[in-house]
Amino acid sequence: MQTKKSDTPENTLDENPLFELFHDELKDIYWAEKHLTKALPKMIKKACAEELVGALENHLEETRHQVERLDKVFSMIGKKALAKKCDAMEGITKEGEELMEDFKDSPALDAAIIAAGQKVEHYEIASYGTLVAYANRLGLEDASQLLKETLEEEGAADKKLTEIAESVANEDAETVSN
Ligand code: ZN
Ligand code: FE
Ligand code: FE
Ligand code: FE
Repeated sequence: MQTKKSDTPENTLDENPLFELFHDELKDIYWAEKHLTKALPKMIKKACAEELVGALENHLEETRHQVERLDKVFSMIGKKALAKKCDAMEGITKEGEELMEDFKDSPALDAAIIAAGQKVEHYEIASYGTLVAYANRLGLEDASQLLKETLEEEGAADKKLTEIAESVANEDAETVSN
């Protein structure tokens, strides 16, 4: 018969499989965020619309803070800040680089950068959404608060990219050059 972990008061977090999963996913997003501090500058360099450059620069700065927030979360749970390679984020950014290469001389380049960026943000939104839910479930309120701050930044970054796409980038992408 399966006993529920909450039925045993002596049960520590380290014995809780959900905590193990939380810790694992934390290492995954830690790798992903650090990777993004290197991937975002490449996107910034290639972006053309001033608004897009500004939004990406702003999010690069936020991303550096997000890494620091994760450092704090690791210390809150008494763990060393360790990164575990996120194959998904490596793939999303690699695909983005290929897309930027394919469209490097096209008026659709900004739209392509936005497409790549929004895929990144959506992966992050999924990751932080689950991390917040796990932290809440595990009673890690301070960690949940920090992770929620990042979740909100990822959501805002995604929204901003949609705005830029709809206000300028998608229209620019239709420019036919000869
Ligand atoms: Zn991220
Ligand atoms: Fe992030
Ligand atoms: Fe991952
Ligand atoms: Fe982000």
